[in-house]
Amino acid sequence: MHDVIIIGAGPAGLSTAFWCDELGLDTLVLEQAERIGGQLHRVYNPIGNYLGVKARNGAEFLERFAAEVDDAEFDLWTQTSIESVDLKAKRISLASGEDLQSIAIVIATGVSPRKLGIPGEQEFAGKGIIESGTRDRELFAGQDVCVVGGGDAAVENALLLAEVCPTVTLVHRGKKLRARSEFTQRLQSNHCITVFTESVLTRIMGDEAVEAVEIQRKAGLKPFQLAVRGVLIRVGVEPNTSLFSEQLETDDKAYIKVNSRQETSVPMVFAIGDVANPIAPTISGATGAGATAAKVIAARLRTGRSHP
Ligand SMILES: Cc1cc2nc3c(=O)[nH]c(=O)nc-3n(C[C@H](O)[C@H](O)[C@H](O)COP(=O)(O)OP(=O)(O)OC[C@H]3O[C@@H](n4cnc5c(N)ncnc54)[C@H](O)[C@@H]3O)c2cc1C
Repeated sequence: MHDVIIIGAGPAGLSTAFWCDELGLDTLVLEQAERIGGQLHRVYNPIGNYLGVKARNGAEFLERFAAEVDDAEFDLWTQTSIESVDLKAKRISLASGEDLQSIAIVIATGVSPRKLGIPGEQEFAGKGIIESGTRDRELFAGQDVCVVGGGDAAVENALLLAEVCPTVTLVHRGKKLRARSEFTQRLQSNHCITVFTESVLTRIMGDEAVEAVEIQRKAGLKPFQLAVRGVLIRVGVEPNTSLFSEQLETDDKAYIKVNSRQETSVPMVFAIGDVANPIAPTISGATGAGATAAKVIAARLRTGRSHP
């Protein structure tokens, strides 16, 4: 029996674990991935907006957290696959067959990039699917590429790739790009970039690697093919809530609803970080929410009450 089980070892889960440790709670963190850090592994740009820490990228930022994990008292199990969770009973069954029990559960499972779900997307991962314009643009220098999406991330990546690629085709489902005006203005004056709005990517094709994409301009029109060697997809993110969404209140996009104490609709179950749909999904927001959850849990355990 643990006081607290935290699911997810990104910034939110780790922050809760450090705080629980400091507050004397018996804490176990379960992480499905091989490494802790969550989305920090996908941050290739410099991080300069977390007070007191400047880092060249997410991996360097993570080194600061990771250095402290070894000294902490909490248990951390990576590569741990959860089979099912009974939130009311606070029971977690692992794929290994082991059952775990706690007094409180903290959900810190974050978000994952949304997929298009089209043929070729999975097949060409690492073979022409571009993960990051910052990280991969030298690899695609001199090649024609396609970017999918209309928000800040898509347009920023299109601009980055246009610095080294002869053509960049931006495909966006909506009528208008959603990116901030600073990016869209730069886009308009960039002659390498062609924008197709109200258009969708329907297929990624190739033999050993990406060679072309199929684009459908407006519903009902015949799709056409475009030769490209790289495809970057930035169509938003979705919360990692499939394990729990039937057992607690979520919003219409499956993000977990919480109050100002990070409590969910199930007593002694908390949700923190990006999975709880913060107005600003940031590292500082995630770590702050972790501190709140830990302090509320410690207070509840002290008073023996699961409600305020
Ligand atoms: C490209 C990019 C750039 C960014 N730049 C910045 C920036 O400059 N500044 C800033 O403040 N923020 C930035 N962010 C946002 C920041 O990374 C996130 O807000 C932050 O990582 C959220 O932390 P989290 O712990 O809530 O979730 P995550 O980081 O998503 O971590 C969730 C963890 O839960 C694990 N998990 C998921 N499901 C399960 C399960 N079933 N069982 C066990 N474990 C599970 C995941 O493997 C992951 O390790 C950036 C994000 C991206 C993608």
